[in-house]
Amino acid sequence: MIASERYAERLDRAQALTAERGIGALLIGVGADLRYITGYAAMPLERLTMLVVPAAGAPTLVAPRLEAMAAVGAPGVRAAGIEVVPWDETDDAHALLRGLAGPGATKAGARILVSDRLWAMHVLGIQRVLPEARLGLATEILRVLRMVKDPDEVQLLRLAAHAADRVVGQIAAGRLVGRTEAEVSREVKDRLIAEGHEHAEFAIVAAGPNSASPHHDATDREIRAGEPIVLDIGGSLVGYGSDTTRTLWVTGGDPAVGPTDEFRAMFDVLQDAQALATAAVRPGASCESIDRAARDRITAAGYGPQFLHRVGHGIGLEAHEEPYLVAGNAEPLVAGVAFSVEPGIYLEGRFGARIEDIVVCGPDGPDVLNQSDRGLWIVDG
Ligand code: ZN
Ligand code: ZN
Ligand code: ZN
Repeated sequence: MIASERYAERLDRAQALTAERGIGALLIGVGADLRYITGYAAMPLERLTMLVVPAAGAPTLVAPRLEAMAAVGAPGVRAAGIEVVPWDETDDAHALLRGLAGPGATKAGARILVSDRLWAMHVLGIQRVLPEARLGLATEILRVLRMVKDPDEVQLLRLAAHAADRVVGQIAAGRLVGRTEAEVSREVKDRLIAEGHEHAEFAIVAAGPNSASPHHDATDREIRAGEPIVLDIGGSLVGYGSDTTRTLWVTGGDPAVGPTDEFRAMFDVLQDAQALATAAVRPGASCESIDRAARDRITAAGYGPQFLHRVGHGIGLEAHEEPYLVAGNAEPLVAGVAFSVEPGIYLEGRFGARIEDIVVCGPDGPDVLNQSDRGLWIVDG
């Protein structure tokens, strides 16, 4: 759990950064940013719910009257003593914002930052009531805070990772041949919930040639003996994401249909690349250097063009968040940043493989949260 006093600290830091950068106000709608600052996991509704953080003065939380009780009860709202301002069904909710955003938000040329995922209907509503302001994205402030996880957050990521690891083990130990990808995918989701996730967000089960499609949607194709399966699963546990990929080879109990030499050779390159990228994680290493560590190895083996995507993405309250580990991102890692390390090699129409762990940058090197075997899982299935 996140200690409730952490929320007040997060709010203070967000407000301090807002003032420091000459921004008039932060307007945070429903989503991960709101949950990060207030602990309020509000429902995404068309009715406006918005944390208003002026550069100076008391922050408020605007909420529809019917949600006000839930808002008041959120741990960060209590801890920081944020006043909840309810509005009724017939009120113009956006109009409330003008009075709450503070003088810095209503002067000519003011800058206001809105949360990245705010619905367009609310962005336009804000523009209507605060016409002087230029709008930007709250990422400018929130990414600095959300990227670096505190020990409580790392602990939740670790619990989520271990739960997903157990599900991988359960699936690998079960029946696969003759079942459809979609059936196995549903089983993955049920098991993620059984292992403590509140949401099972995705369960990629990509068998045979489908394994060459990184974000393959599970289909009615039946799994056969003698083919690989890319299993990429995840969801959220107490708000924090899991995301792990393992590659299986299903024999159906027949040793004659084990992995081909070609597949094994490709997989060895991939496993090497994933280990190299993980080993490169330390404070000061750039995001792109982690990508490069994996890519250089894969390219040297001749599979460069078949590594189709960046090596990883940040993870926390969102499954994909800052930072992105991709060529061109020179931002240095610092201790506490959490992200995936997930190189893949995809031979279109034939087969593919991916290995994915969630890794936290520790003070001296990588803290790998996922603990299941990273090698090729040869399963009877
Ligand atoms: Zn992905
Ligand atoms: Zn994944
Ligand atoms: Zn991922």
